[in-house]
Amino acid sequence: MKVLISGGAGFIGSHMVAYYLNQGAEVWCVDNLLTGSESNLAPYAVFPNFHFLRLDVADLKEEHLPADFNLVCHLASPASPPEYLKYPLETMRVNSAGTEKMLSLAQKAQARFLYSSTSEVYGDPEVPVQREDYWGHVNPVGPRSVYDEAKRFGEALTMAYHRCYGVNTGIARIFNTYGPGMKLNDGRVIPNFISQALSGRPLTVYGEGSQSRSFCYIDDLVRGLVLLADSGEHWPVNLGNPEEFTVKQLVEKMSQVLGRPLKVEFKPLPEDDPKRRKPDISRAQRILGWQPQISLEEGLRKTINHFQKIIGRS
Ligand code: UDP
Repeated sequence: MKVLISGGAGFIGSHMVAYYLNQGAEVWCVDNLLTGSESNLAPYAVFPNFHFLRLDVADLKEEHLPADFNLVCHLASPASPPEYLKYPLETMRVNSAGTEKMLSLAQKAQARFLYSSTSEVYGDPEVPVQREDYWGHVNPVGPRSVYDEAKRFGEALTMAYHRCYGVNTGIARIFNTYGPGMKLNDGRVIPNFISQALSGRPLTVYGEGSQSRSFCYIDDLVRGLVLLADSGEHWPVNLGNPEEFTVKQLVEKMSQVLGRPLKVEFKPLPEDDPKRRKPDISRAQRILGWQPQISLEEGLRKTINHFQKIIGRS
């Protein structure tokens, strides 16, 4: 099996690289390291079936690659709000020109194509639980639009390649995911809270902390992505953990896992920050037989242990 993974040096991408290498596949990873980390790939450099191209996806040429991929995964994109706000045009390009490049490679290879979309396509949802048939509530000119609209365009392009050229496409709508392999300074809430707690700083709660998210541990997500890649499903599928927590409840969970009280510092709520987010995963359950198995408490414990070891070594 030959797999092409864009964004393979990123958080989710590097876990997908590991999964397919461990399955014995030949894995080609493309990443320009704009937000990805080469250190995520260091363990795989010794695999003879691993190939890394440091390139922007949009600059990929057919001559860089074998022609007979079975699976093309487009996972490249800044994904944390501070990072896509720092790289707005790069975010729009990788999800538009980058998606088209990956789709055309999948078309030529007659490969399965998997697009990593996001719960952000629902914007600031007006419904408490988001099903795939909810069209969303997105501000098209707000600061987050560079990510939300780029991902919506990426989904539309993916469906157009499926409808016009019969490409075997799949779309994963990924909800908040965390775990080892994230950068502690990527600005998302769980890495922020972990780095703040481990260095004795107060946890930065944006707004009143009453906004909610549903956090999925990386191993659960990778299992879902692989099942979706193996399926023939073309319509979007939500992948996320339906257990919902407010940011304040997340602080309590962190304090429970660390076994000590944590100080909190309130900061302004970013513009257009979604007030709630919780996936309906009944399609993933029905089509893929998938549901998350790792609770927030267990996932936080694993993630904190991982980062404690890394900090201890540095
Ligand atoms: N957040 C927070 N403190 C932080 C970072 C984020 O309170 O240090 C909040 C943020 O405003 C949002 C939620 O946590 O409501 C999740 O933010 P994150 O950046 O992880 O992902 P998002 O779901 O917004 O893409």
